[in-house]
Amino acid sequence: MKPSTNQKGIVYLVGAGPGDPALITLRGLECLQLADVVVYDYLANEQLLNHAPDGAEYIYAGKIGGRHNQNQSEINSLLVKKGRAGKVVVRLKGGDPFVFGRGGEECEALREAGIPFEVVPGVTAAVGAAAYSGIPLTHRDFTASVAFVTGQEGKDKSESAIDWERLSLGGGTVVFYMGITTLRGNMQKMIEHGRAPETPVALVRWATTPCQQILTGTVADIADRAEAAGFKPPAVTIVGEVVNLRKKLGWFDSRPLCGRKIIVTRSAEQAGEFSAKLAMRGASVLECPTIRLVEPESWQLLDLAIRELPGYDWLILTSVNAVRFFFQRLGTLGMDARALAGCKVCAVGPKTAEAFASFGIRADLVPGDYKAEGVVDEFSRLDLHNLKILFPRADKAREIIPRELKRMGAHVDSPVAYRNIFPDRLPPEALFQLEKRAVDCITFTSSSTVQNLAAMLGEDLLVDLLKGVAVASIGPITSKSCRELGLKVDIEPETHTLDALADALEAHFS
Ligand code: SAH
Repeated sequence: MKPSTNQKGIVYLVGAGPGDPALITLRGLECLQLADVVVYDYLANEQLLNHAPDGAEYIYAGKIGGRHNQNQSEINSLLVKKGRAGKVVVRLKGGDPFVFGRGGEECEALREAGIPFEVVPGVTAAVGAAAYSGIPLTHRDFTASVAFVTGQEGKDKSESAIDWERLSLGGGTVVFYMGITTLRGNMQKMIEHGRAPETPVALVRWATTPCQQILTGTVADIADRAEAAGFKPPAVTIVGEVVNLRKKLGWFDSRPLCGRKIIVTRSAEQAGEFSAKLAMRGASVLECPTIRLVEPESWQLLDLAIRELPGYDWLILTSVNAVRFFFQRLGTLGMDARALAGCKVCAVGPKTAEAFASFGIRADLVPGDYKAEGVVDEFSRLDLHNLKILFPRADKAREIIPRELKRMGAHVDSPVAYRNIFPDRLPPEALFQLEKRAVDCITFTSSSTVQNLAAMLGEDLLVDLLKGVAVASIGPITSKSCRELGLKVDIEPETHTLDALADALEAHFS
């Protein structure tokens, strides 16, 4: 059942998961997509807010390290008020709403006020931390039970509600939440109540995010180690023999690009795909758009060509963007793929062929080599004499394809289908990390990415900021542009695809 969209207000208490935004549930996402109001916490990943509709109201109800920005009763009243006003409210909470999330109190207030609510579970921090640190919370060889315990108990209570003896005796895994500032006292209590001092312990901070940090030790020494390392919240403390399994089962931080900060300089529209490939290998990716694709200054030449499509023998498109802009324009002129009925199609690169396929067109020619030279080479095997070729392209494309095809006897029209322009500045986070010398690698996937970055920063600053940063380029043309701007290229794959570039980065850093 879809979340209801009728007039009546409703509050969804949604577990955002432990940190990695991909760990929210499908149901949680559905609710967010319908939200009029999102009331979110410090520990809920802010990236999730992007899933709420444009115009949704965002209210930060975070409680940072115990300092209450807004106390619980104020949050309860806010939820009731928004619900009464007929809003679809998402109360987005880190982890799970019913595990140390005060979701129970919020539901009580809503029930009392007669506001309908629904609770959407989330991956709680203990479970997220366990998975991403390679520590199974239960294991047939070690323990059959696990307890989730607050580490903050006792501050305002004179008598402990925690049965320390039961928790300490027996071998059950214990996970403390909110237990970093109170780590020493809690570990002492466990020893006093009978837990072996040599029992292994792991602290997992910012679990499931690129900043995940793990510190291991024993019940006896973990407090000293945490102090020496300056270990800070938010973290969970996992106590039990299962912690030893991490040596064998850790995967998140042993991925090839783990801990590497990598800048991706593609267009805002295209960066996501490549970023995802790097993130999957563990990299922490900073997107830095250097290209924005916009309409040509005039559509006149492309429109003219499109109206005369039946007269062309070949259509060549060399990128997904070219396909996108071409078909958009075709649509604007009231036509569709049928306009290409008599025309053969050349798609440069498999991604471009896929883009054609999404419009129902199977490419007649997909050159194996994606460079302009490769395209020319393929066409040199055909008799082009007197053939008419349409080659819609970017404004800054190389001239080689039209020039060489003309030389082979073809009539070539190459109207501009889109322009590459560059944004006027770097995203602040990327600049900050470059200035801090915290970036390991920068990737360039076309000449214009590096040329635009140089134009945005100035050549001197470009070279200075990239000192000590590995430069990765997708192929020889891009590498040449890098060198012309004073950069040394450290990584260049043999095939010029994003997958090959990601593999080359992996090889470089391993
Ligand atoms: N409802 C939340 C818990 C909120 S209490 C849940 O189900 O996870 C806050 C505590 O959760 C923090 O002090 C910390 O112990 C833990 N926590 C939350 N997110 C965490 C993360 N990404 N990594 C480690 N611990 C986290």
